[in-house]
Amino acid sequence: MTMQTLSPPAPDQPLISLQSRLPNVGTTIFTVMSALASEKGAVNLGQGFPDFDCDPALVDAVTSSMKEGFNQYPPMTGVPALREAIAAKIGALYGRRYDPASEITITAGATQALLTAILCTVHPGDEVLIIEPVYDSYVPSIELAGGKPVFVQMEVGAEGYSIPWAKVAAAVTPKTRLLMINSPHNPTGTVLKPSDMQALADIVRGTEILIVSDEVYEHMVYDGARHESVCRYPELAARSFVVSSFGKTYHVTGWKIGFVAAPAALSAEFRKVHQFNVFTVNTPVQHGMARHMANPAPYLDLPAFYQRKRDLFRDGLKATRFRLLPSEGTYFQCVDYSAISTLPEADFAKWLTAEIGVAAIPVSAFYNEPRESGIVRFCFAKKDETLQTALQRLASL
Ligand code: PMP
Ligand code: GLN
Repeated sequence: MTMQTLSPPAPDQPLISLQSRLPNVGTTIFTVMSALASEKGAVNLGQGFPDFDCDPALVDAVTSSMKEGFNQYPPMTGVPALREAIAAKIGALYGRRYDPASEITITAGATQALLTAILCTVHPGDEVLIIEPVYDSYVPSIELAGGKPVFVQMEVGAEGYSIPWAKVAAAVTPKTRLLMINSPHNPTGTVLKPSDMQALADIVRGTEILIVSDEVYEHMVYDGARHESVCRYPELAARSFVVSSFGKTYHVTGWKIGFVAAPAALSAEFRKVHQFNVFTVNTPVQHGMARHMANPAPYLDLPAFYQRKRDLFRDGLKATRFRLLPSEGTYFQCVDYSAISTLPEADFAKWLTAEIGVAAIPVSAFYNEPRESGIVRFCFAKKDETLQTALQRLASL
């Protein structure tokens, strides 16, 4: 018998050939720009997260929950007290009563909620209508479900971005299963108006189309405007998964906790996937969040808190050649840099990071096909000092 020796595989030769489920996906632009910002010592106004801490009372509430022994699996759908607090908040703010037992599910952030809502509704070959620029998790999530993303692009003019609803209506086919909206909108900072909601209702009425409404920035709407949650519109809410995230509202993006509100029949399907996707979400944070939510001040005060930062940042940018687009909501400010540079957006963002010392996100990263509008996105969820430092560096432009 001859001994067989196995030679180790060459380092660049994988043991098993793997056909990627997401062949076009690389590292997200947020990670790329944050890494470049830290390498170059730039002020990071790229990736959307606050550089200030959350309310210490929230940390205390979570710590107490841990110390009180809330450390084992909670119910699959989430801690009842938290689901009740969310249902009460939605009822008070938007006037729709969701049953906390059957219609609210706690998720590991909005990203998991979005993926789960897509996986539980989209079958291979189904079409999902999305509006570009679009948050970067949507398309890969649709592709994982075997769905086909169908793109409609927002129009951009002097007044900023808007959704051409006639084009959305024209993109509907018998295969359209889901329509995804996001207001306040990342990256453009636009906020849907009652007329947008009516246009949406006109499109889906009498169809089998479901809606995923990404409302993670629901508490960041400025200048006295109100957030047009789909929860306010019974005929839309009846066919919608409403997704939100505590990360945005409570300055804890790293905690990865959010929720989905949907009618019982939709929630039942959502939960089938959810229980094998994450099963449930960490217990002490849920208990701590439920206690913290007893006080509505943190989210009711959020528009004023961020509007002041938005205005500080916008006022500073007025001294530059950036053209400011409206920022009606979110913690993002888009700017047109065509008076400063003719570089493509990704190159301009890299140049700005490396040479000027301020990181931004190219809006082209939110499009499927390469598209250059000469626009980048800044995040103003930063300490005033951080914004001042960034403005000093941008002042030369
Ligand atoms: N949707 C949008 C529009 C977002 O901007 C983000 C995060 N920035 C998410 C979803 C994901 O939220 P989470 O971190 O809770 O997963
Ligand atoms: N949603 C954040 C943004 O738009 C980033 C989240 C992430 O890094 N995945 O900047």
